[in-house]
Amino acid sequence: MYILKVLVEHPSRSLDMTFDYLSDEMVQPGCRVKITFGHQNIVGYVDDVIVTDQNKEQLEAENGFRYQYVQEIIDCQPLLNEELRHLADYMAKLTLSPRISCLQCMLPPQLKPSTNHSVGIIYVKCVKYLRDAVLKTEKQQKALQYIKEHDLLPVKDYPFSKTLLDNIEKQKAICYVRQEVYRDPYQKNEKTVADRPLTKRQQEAVNQILASYHSFTTFLLFGVTGSGKTEVYLHLSRFVIEHDKTVLMMVPEISLTPMMVQAFKSRFGRQVAILHSRLSSGERYDEYRRIVSQEVKIVVGARSAVFAPLENIGLIIMDEEHDTSYKQENDPRYLTTQIAKLRGKYHHCPVVLGSATPSLESYSRALKGVYQLCTLPERINKNPLPEIELIDMVQEIKNRNYGIFSKKMEKAIQERLNRNEQVILLLNKRGYAQYIRCDDCGEVIRCPHCDVTLTYHKASQSLKCHYCDYTHSVYYHCPHCHGTHLTKVGTGTQKVEEYIENHFYNAKVIRYDVDSTRRKGGHEKLLASFEKQEANILLGTQMIAKGLDFENVTFVGVINADMSLNIPDFRANERTFQLLEQVSGRSGRGNKKGIVMIQTYNPDHFVLQCIKTHDYQRFYTEEMKIRKLGKYPPYCHLVSILIQGKNEAETETYAMQIKRYLLNQLKGTVILGPANCTIYKVNDRYRKRITLKLTDSKELYPVLQRMNDFYKKGKVSVVCDFNPYTTL
Ligand code: ADP
Ligand code: ZN
Repeated sequence: MYILKVLVEHPSRSLDMTFDYLSDEMVQPGCRVKITFGHQNIVGYVDDVIVTDQNKEQLEAENGFRYQYVQEIIDCQPLLNEELRHLADYMAKLTLSPRISCLQCMLPPQLKPSTNHSVGIIYVKCVKYLRDAVLKTEKQQKALQYIKEHDLLPVKDYPFSKTLLDNIEKQKAICYVRQEVYRDPYQKNEKTVADRPLTKRQQEAVNQILASYHSFTTFLLFGVTGSGKTEVYLHLSRFVIEHDKTVLMMVPEISLTPMMVQAFKSRFGRQVAILHSRLSSGERYDEYRRIVSQEVKIVVGARSAVFAPLENIGLIIMDEEHDTSYKQENDPRYLTTQIAKLRGKYHHCPVVLGSATPSLESYSRALKGVYQLCTLPERINKNPLPEIELIDMVQEIKNRNYGIFSKKMEKAIQERLNRNEQVILLLNKRGYAQYIRCDDCGEVIRCPHCDVTLTYHKASQSLKCHYCDYTHSVYYHCPHCHGTHLTKVGTGTQKVEEYIENHFYNAKVIRYDVDSTRRKGGHEKLLASFEKQEANILLGTQMIAKGLDFENVTFVGVINADMSLNIPDFRANERTFQLLEQVSGRSGRGNKKGIVMIQTYNPDHFVLQCIKTHDYQRFYTEEMKIRKLGKYPPYCHLVSILIQGKNEAETETYAMQIKRYLLNQLKGTVILGPANCTIYKVNDRYRKRITLKLTDSKELYPVLQRMNDFYKKGKVSVVCDFNPYTTL
């Protein structure tokens, strides 16, 4: 008899423990089982197994409670290997999350231990060669020879009739088997292309990294936009798979564009698996299975791909290491870089962090020698970085231009269109207008559940909350004073699109934002269309800033650079620098020279001055001074404790109680707050934040763990976030 220690999926943290079930059959830890829990039938995850020679009655007599048998064993093989199981345990401690939620986030949706799982496995009838036999006819003999050489193909793929196969099968030289087939989301690009010769710089980078092959070393590959980092990744990957190891290639979800996928697929074909959220769940499941069965040598994917069940990893790459999408914003709140490094350590392999605009944390580590710095300071073919011009919008207003575009930018765009060149425009605000204001009473229309204004979407004639998705049809009367003078204030991508269509000659715009790319394949279609030059303007939110490589783009325009500078977050400068440098990098990547214009009300701001000269070093130096003064990362570690509740007074009481507890337990740590979050109410919940600044986190974990345990059943939720990426 076996006692199974089973973890169950439950949103409440209070169930972060195992429950005992019985099984007559041996089950390996890491498999899923169907169990009855309370009155529900659910799926659990076997965490541990104990062998016992007692029977059910003896066990019950001894322990004083009734045992249940598992209803069914779902997997015969563990879903996660030992490395990943240990990683889940470690991650649970690191992020103070329930272990089941760590396991959940490692698996594709269809394999999650949860109540409603359905696996759409597709089977096909295949032919399996069994033995050499003397068959009745020569035709059959030849066919058998062919099958011997081409084993295990689907029946329909053999160049002879089903009857012929049936006859051979009757003579027991072959048999039919059911094989799982995989959906390949990128089947089209079957033929592979050869690697490109590297430039001297690229070769040096490759050599430097390979000098540490077989050891866990973290590299910061700092290469300007267009310096050919992708080619470096491809060459490194080739080396690794030729040495019978595997590659984990991480990219931000947004830059998992057809371009990046194509680059890897066209070099390595079926040896690559792609994991990202836009695949159908069946496709994702199949890609996962191909990895588990070791058919795949390279995994390319976004954040959660860091848990890909690859064995024998020889190299881990994280492109655009500074990207915010590498931070998971719900439980478990892990940082992909941290996980990648843990896996690198386990596999004794190099971890390469690539970026044109490294995070301050990473660059300071590289300067200290914690990471090895590896640089690509020039663009391919010594193409110059694009020239950048700052346009002072205060001056425009003085000249009575209140429009979206400065005169200069408007002219520059029209010139490119006339020359059949292409333009990329960035406006980091989707929708049509930012908000609606009543000119009679001055009220602004807000989300009833959140502390933000509703954004006007013209196509759907609706007002939407970008935080909780609340939607209301457009108002014709002010809900406060019933006045009729409603003004749409501010500019979103939809409004710019409309303006361009009405004011530029020969303009064809593609709008690229969350709304226009929502459908499956939406991203691919829009980008392909721009690549084929069916449109000459690509207008989008920050989604257009990364990874796009269009030769014919010679102009990049930033409509309002201040929007991201003014976000009340200590990383606002860094985010703005990264965004502007990345989007600028889209210009002039081919043979034609590129320029960039940035509209701003703060042209003297040091971030914009550094952008103008592409001066990362100066930006780094200036921003580090600010971080040092304010005692912010990388000069300390931040932990954010978010306290949320439906009742405002109760939330306040809890927050004060937590503050007292922390003051008591963590002597010498800077404890700020509780303060109301910038967006105080989201989804009808009031939000308060306590922020810890510390240099040493040793004593911290047990203190926060006790706090978590104490509050897990309360009316107010308490969430700890280590190294928070958003503090709004
Ligand atoms: P990054 O990711 O550093 O911004 P990319 O990898 O997109 O840069 O490369 C920029 C451009 O240079 C691409 O169009 C790419 O095809 C080209 N390129 C890269 N390496 C080489 C090379 N060794 N020879 C010729 N062209 C290259
Ligand atoms: Zn809302």
